Amino acid sequence: MSTPLATATTTPPGTDSTAPVRLAHLDAHAYRDWIASGQATVIIPAGAFEQHGPHLPLGTDAILSTAIAEAVAARIGAKVAEPLSYGYKSQQKSGGGNHLAGTISLDAAAVIATTRCLVTGFLAQGVRHIVILNGHYENYQFLYEGVDLALRDLGLGSDAERSVLLLSYWDFVSEQTLATVYPAGFPGWDIEHGGVLETSLMLHLNPGMVDMGRAVSHPPAILPRFDRLPVVAARTPATGCLSAPDGSDAQKGRLLFEQVVADLAADVAAELGADVRPAAAPAGRESVAHAAAGTPSGQFLPTP
Ligand code: ZN
Ligand code: MN
Repeated sequence: MSTPLATATTTPPGTDSTAPVRLAHLDAHAYRDWIASGQATVIIPAGAFEQHGPHLPLGTDAILSTAIAEAVAARIGAKVAEPLSYGYKSQQKSGGGNHLAGTISLDAAAVIATTRCLVTGFLAQGVRHIVILNGHYENYQFLYEGVDLALRDLGLGSDAERSVLLLSYWDFVSEQTLATVYPAGFPGWDIEHGGVLETSLMLHLNPGMVDMGRAVSHPPAILPRFDRLPVVAARTPATGCLSAPDGSDAQKGRLLFEQVVADLAADVAAELGADVRPAAAPAGRESVAHAAAGTPSGQFLPTP
């Protein structure tokens, strides 16, 4: 017995709130109908395949940027393209170095070319805005170059209605959050590799991928003000982390995640003229606001 074909609805496939947020989970016709609205925004997460010490998985940067992208997309009605799962070469002063086992990187030309192809492809098919959400420190300028070349390919000038936003998610961590997450002082984003930010976010989002029993406490790396090539391998701490994950916990991760997602969604929505939906309450996860509802200030309280 055959079932009747789906009849046309007022809501095109892919646009209602139950539709998949990952583009890869949509069928081609739902995708086509979605971009036909002329208002489609695609978020491309960018990560790396990179060692993150003995306690975090190699895919950490792509895992985190994708999780943030999915949450932001749900808030602003965007969709998430498949992440860049490899990134530009890890550098000693920001990722421990490209010489370390577990780090497999792309040359700059490959990052630029990949970014250029993706941006050109989505915009040429009618996507209106692209947000590249970077989660690997070393990627940034090469993502920028790929975007710039794509816009030149398409002949899009400064008056174009279509646009690309490029950002690194840690730039959205507020001063207030920093003070809570780093009570002893913030070491700087460049040496936040395998440290408290990434470890806490992973403990919140994917605790089964973190083994705190293998985390090692050590002082932050002290690196010279120059780059020396080839690298002097001994300058990278033996763990591969540039700062230790001491004090990481899921509660800090939840604070980081929810604050970054809220501020990032608000900024992107304001820039692109989109509406922001209230945060969905994920099953099994209390929101920070809910957890803090009983406190007089309504503010997040750190664990002692
Ligand atoms: Zn990382
Ligand atoms: Mn990285």
